[in-house]
Amino acid sequence: MIDIHVHYFPQPLFEAIWRFFETRGHGLWPIHYKLHGKAHVETLVSFGVERFTTLVYAHKPGLADYLNAYVLQAASADARMLPFGTIFCGDGEVRHRARRMFEEDGFLGIKLHPFVSGEEVDDPRLFDAYEIMEAHDKVLICHTGSGPVYDAKDGADRISRVLTQFPRLKIVVAHCGAFEYCHYEALAEEHPTVHFDTAMNCVHTPVFPNSCPGREFFLRFQDRILYGSDYPNIPYPYDEQLKSLRALQLGEAVERKIFRENAERLLALPI
Ligand SMILES: [Zn+2]
Repeated sequence: MIDIHVHYFPQPLFEAIWRFFETRGHGLWPIHYKLHGKAHVETLVSFGVERFTTLVYAHKPGLADYLNAYVLQAASADARMLPFGTIFCGDGEVRHRARRMFEEDGFLGIKLHPFVSGEEVDDPRLFDAYEIMEAHDKVLICHTGSGPVYDAKDGADRISRVLTQFPRLKIVVAHCGAFEYCHYEALAEEHPTVHFDTAMNCVHTPVFPNSCPGREFFLRFQDRILYGSDYPNIPYPYDEQLKSLRALQLGEAVERKIFRENAERLLALPI
């Protein structure tokens, strides 16, 4: 099993994120797994996860380099980690940073979280990075849907603008695009490089309600949906995500694609 949506921040950052999640009024949730470093990895592996990403994102200048270095160090010592870093335009030198990440450091892609960074996915400052990523088959994972608590619902349009310019750029829309499922279905129909991750979908937790695009969606995009959990920042036991997806009864072949094969293909992993 491959989990495409796992966060891997250094302890101080994780603790700040967990505090934010648990602050009343933010509309988020209590964190079930307050784990970092070795305990984070060993717990995840105990659920049957064999390979997993290291998603990070930045909200101020200077942070992205620190996060990327943390990821790189961990991933160089653990082959189960699929190194994903991030780019923050406010740091400047986007082309230079992207070259280093993808031509020297071996990152498989980046995570962007526009609601946190304040930088949209179609920010032209990112285009230098997209050009390099497209050329090297790297993957952009982005959280552009309004779930769980954001206002902007124009994420699919923004991705569409990016793909007009970089039609071969591989994109994973986090959380299946919740809650604008219809927008993202249309986007995926138009652009074959658009993929989805399942994180927090179909679990129907009170803080992320009505979060299922439906069985038809999974069947229709069965070659482009990748299993993801959002571990460790989830409000329920890890197993809930697995059970909720299996309850869709997609069949063994489709489950194999979602839980492993689609990720292997997208990331060109050795099988
Ligand atoms: Zn996440």
